[in-house]
This record gives sequence, structure tokens and C-alpha cells, in this order.
Amino acid sequence: MMQGTPDHHDEGPAERKMRFLFALRSRGVTDARVLTAMERIDRGLFVRGIFADRAYEDMPLPISCGQTISQPSVVGLMTQALNVQPRDVVLEIGTGSGYQAAILSLLARRVYTIDRHRRLVREAVELFRDLNLPNITAVARDGSFGWPEQAPFDRIIVTAAAEDPPGPLLAQLKLGGIMVLPVGQSDTVQSLIKVTRTERGFDYEELRPVRFVPLVEGLASD
Ligand code: SAH
Repeated sequence: MMQGTPDHHDEGPAERKMRFLFALRSRGVTDARVLTAMERIDRGLFVRGIFADRAYEDMPLPISCGQTISQPSVVGLMTQALNVQPRDVVLEIGTGSGYQAAILSLLARRVYTIDRHRRLVREAVELFRDLNLPNITAVARDGSFGWPEQAPFDRIIVTAAAEDPPGPLLAQLKLGGIMVLPVGQSDTVQSLIKVTRTERGFDYEELRPVRFVPLVEGLASD
């Protein structure tokens, strides 16, 4: 991994940020609002422990509860595909570290985010408070059923892979709304899908191959 990549141990925060943004652009994240949001949210705060010094590399990294924070370019491409508007109410399934939710919170009016691990939700909520992101609400529960009390949503993003788009999430998408999610039958072969709700039903567009942790049923014990 990272063969041919020089070490960047001696670079300062400004150079690091430039390189981070350059990597995003070179991988197709070109939306100016998305890039600005990703410039403002420091990924280093969402990665703890021994992997913290890799936070500015374009790679997924381990977080608590055996989960992963997604690769920055994948976060950027999913956010871009979601085409979030300033008045939008967004639902995220798979809070994880909270990084994706924090980025969405700068682009949307409100973000609701769900994880099945209480510990991840607790840690993410602390970060949202520290970063002063008051428009995010997080809860620990099984996200496959969405958040019926807050539905419908303008945008839904799922950051764990299911075999098919969960029915309750499709039902909680507004007319004209967009949902972006990885789908696939195995842990290794998955596609990122963009679903748009129209008058006639749902349009599906396949974006690219991806690899996410699975969407698991039920609330976790931690
Ligand atoms: N978006 C995250 C990355 C999430 S990794 C970030 O920015 O860091 C995927 C997450 O989905 C994991 O934290 C996992 O606990 C969660 N998850 C898996 N199945 C779930 C379910 N049914 N409901 C809610 N969360 C789920």
C-alpha cells in the first residue's frame, strides 16, 4: 500500500491540507461546496489512536467497535452524488466516526444520523458538540428501518452495504429525493447506487464499485 508515495512526516498542517484536497480532486471530487466542507472538517479529529497519523491519507481506517471510517474520496464522491441543497433534511445510516455527518451538516439544514453501536453514537455526539455542529441529531438503533418520526427526507445516505435498498428507507424518501448507498451480495463486491424518487417510482443509477462494512440487523450490545 502507498507504494511510491513519499513520507510526509515533516509537512505542516497547510501542506497536509493541500495534499488532502488535491487527492480528492484527482479522484473526481470537483463540487466546490463539497470540497469546501471537506476542507473545514478536520478528519484527524475523527480518527483515534494509532491510526491518527494516517487521517490525511486517502484510505479507510479502523475506528471503535470494529468499524471503519470511509476513504475520504469515497465520502466526497457520495456527498457529491447526493447533491445536497441548503434547505435539505438528510438522513444518514451508519454514523461511525461522525465524519460523513459532520460534512453533511455544513451543506444541509438538518442531519439525522443513526448507528447500531451506542458507543460510536456517544463519541460522535461529543465531537459534534466540540465542533459546534448543532444541526446534527444522532441516535443508536437499527437504521434499516430509517427514522419514521422525522421522515420524509430530501436525501438519504447509507454508509454500510445491504443486498438491496431497504424498503423503509425508500418509503421515507421524498418525491424528487435522492438516496446514495452501497449494495451488494458480498463483503467484497458492491456497487454504489444512486436512487432518485420520481412520480413514476424509483430511478436507479450505478456509480462505481465500492467496499463497505455490511448493514447488520439489530442494535449492537455496545
Ligand atoms: N459514515 C461513517 C462510516 C460508517 S462505517 C463515517 O463517516 O465514519 C458503517 C457504520 O454502519 C458502522 O459504524 C456500523 O455500526 C453501522 N451500521 C451497520 N449496520 C447498521 C444498522 N442496521 N443500523 C445502523 N447502523 C449500522
